[in-house]
Amino acid sequence: MTEFHVKTASRTRLVDITREVAKALAAEGLQSGAVLIYCPHTTAGITINENADPDVVTDLEGALDRLVPWDGPYRHGEGNSAAHVKSTLVGASETVPVEGGRLVLGTWQGIYFCEFDGPRTRRVQVRALSGA
Ligand code: ZN
Repeated sequence: MTEFHVKTASRTRLVDITREVAKALAAEGLQSGAVLIYCPHTTAGITINENADPDVVTDLEGALDRLVPWDGPYRHGEGNSAAHVKSTLVGASETVPVEGGRLVLGTWQGIYFCEFDGPRTRRVQVRALSGA
């Protein structure tokens, strides 16, 4: 398992981590199988979406903020329930196929770390899952 850190600058921010994941995959040394990208936090997540037009990510951030407003009503005393909800909507992990030691992503796909309670420094774990 390889771990790296992501530093975020605002409350909601999607950060393209495709390059970091590829580097972690190289460190894992997997040639064929899949790689698990996992976020061990309850107010952040991992997703895959378009990395060509930066407006897509901006729209995703805005839509998630409109979908789950920061001000509740919520019960959770820490005051960050919206971040917990968005974390569950997005999910804590993605799995990407690996062939020839490379991530098998679509032409327009990138892997994103999703911050929902920033700014913070977060951990992302990358685990090689070997194929048959
Ligand atoms: Zn909380």
